[in-house]
Formats: sequence, structure tokens, C-alpha cells
Amino acid sequence: MPGRILGIHHITAIAAGAKKNHEFYTRVLGLRLVKKTVNFDDPTTYHFYYGNETGGPGTILTFFPWEGIRRGRAGTGQVTAVSFSVPGGSMGFWLDRFRGHNVTYNNPSSRFGEEALVFLDPDGLKLELVSDAGDERKAWDADEVPPEFGIRGFHSAALTLEGYEATAKLLTDVFGYEKTEEHVNRFRFVNPNSPNANIIDLVCLPSGQRGSVAAGTVHHIAFRTANEGDQLRMRERLISLGYNVTPQLDRHYFKSVYFREPGGVLFEIATDTPGFTVDESPAELGRGLMLPDWLEFRRDEIESVLPPID
Ligand code: ZN
Repeated sequence: MPGRILGIHHITAIAAGAKKNHEFYTRVLGLRLVKKTVNFDDPTTYHFYYGNETGGPGTILTFFPWEGIRRGRAGTGQVTAVSFSVPGGSMGFWLDRFRGHNVTYNNPSSRFGEEALVFLDPDGLKLELVSDAGDERKAWDADEVPPEFGIRGFHSAALTLEGYEATAKLLTDVFGYEKTEEHVNRFRFVNPNSPNANIIDLVCLPSGQRGSVAAGTVHHIAFRTANEGDQLRMRERLISLGYNVTPQLDRHYFKSVYFREPGGVLFEIATDTPGFTVDESPAELGRGLMLPDWLEFRRDEIESVLPPID
């Protein structure tokens, strides 16, 4: 039995400032900061993980906020839209909220029978709220966003590609997705192994400009496996198909392998285990600056250079 993919695990994007990023995602969008740590490859930069109440896989948008970094350009070879699931009937609440906070948005429109509200984060990253009455995940009870309107986690992600067939084949033949719908140049794939965060849209733009990764763009998308066994079986499968896959890396909250899919998007496969409660209790998620053991001896130095966010 090859390792199974269970939908989206997390999505990682770039921001140009920690304070503005933290304020937008926790206050305006009402997500929970479930982990505050540093970029393990550059410990003078934060790594923020935002999610729902439990920080479950399929709810986690993460950021590397590099102070003052230039804006990137969304384009082919990237995840170009990150969609969150919100309860049915909540769009009026969100429209009022976006007007009150000067958020750039488009009027809601219908896509594959669902209502979608497209908006931008402070760095220009394209986000969407999609109304999904069937999503039973619990939103975080944020100060200004009551759980009955709150974000439940990911609905889907859209990848923009020059050509889509090779990526589609990876999703269906290896990851177990099924093509369900298409409209013009948008092709929808659904993962039957998970009830949510299980949709990938491929948007085919043959003459589109190549994306450039910097502030306001997505760095990579991670797909879930239940455990390391499934992950390593999936890794072997990908290698046998000619993909160039990294060795397994320890990200403290999950184990990761990375490879580039045929359309140029950086894919990661991440384990559900051990999860974000490995170093903080569920009630305390996101409170402290969490450092891995091998950076703990540099805590004073690291804390002195990280910008304050509260
Ligand atoms: Zn990742």
C-alpha cells in the first residue's frame, strides 16, 4: 500500500514585516497564532504558524516575515491563491470587516457553485474566503471574529501553471486526487481521503509570466501524510517516478520531504505527527517563542534581534 496523501497540510508564504503580518492574520482574520518560532535556517527571522483552534493539519498558513524584503510577483509555477473555508451565511460579516479595516477585496462571486470572496493581505498575497456549510472544523474564538463566522482552515489552493497535464497526473496517479470539475482554464481536483482542505485547482496560463518568490507570494505548499511510514513510502514512489526528492528533514512539529512538481511549484510532504502540542499545551499554543534545543543556547541573542509584535 503506497503512502496516502490526506489533502493540504500547510502553506508557507513570505511577508515583508512581522508586526503587520501578525496583526492582519490574528486580529483582522481572527486566526490563532499556534506557533511562534524562528526560521531554522535563519534564526534572526520569525516563523509564524497561524491556524484554527487546535492548529490541525489543513488549517496552517505559515510565514517567514523578512523585514523590508521586496515584493514578489505572482505568476506561473506558484500557488497563486490560498482559500479558507468559512461558514455559510458569513460573507456579510466579512465584507463589513474588510471595509472597516481597509482590506482590498472583490465582490463575492460564484465558483463551482460556491460563494468566494477574494481579498489581499498587507503584502498583496491573494487570499479567498469560500463559504462551505459542510465544514465541521472548529474556528478559533478570536476577540473580534466570533466562531460562527470564523475561518475553519483551508478550503483549497490554486496553482497557476504554463501547462497543467503533468501536474494533474501527479495529483491523480500518485496523490490520489480525482478530477471533478473544470471551467475554461481552471481544473478542480478533490482528494477523497480527507473531508476538508482537500481541493487543488490548477489554473492553466500558457502565456503567463513566471512568478518570482518574495513578499506577498507563496513559497511552497505541503501535503499531509498520517505518519512517517506513509511519508517514506510516498518518497520512494516519487523517486521511482524520477522526481528529485530531498531526504527527510526534521521540522520539529512534523517531518518533511520536498520536491519540485512538473509545473515548477515547490511541493512538500509533511507528517501529521507529532504536531504543535509537542512543546506547548493546547491552551498555550503560540504564547512563547519556541526554539529547538540546538538554538536554545542562543535565546537571548535571538530575542534581542527579533522585532516586537505585540
Ligand atoms: Zn513547509
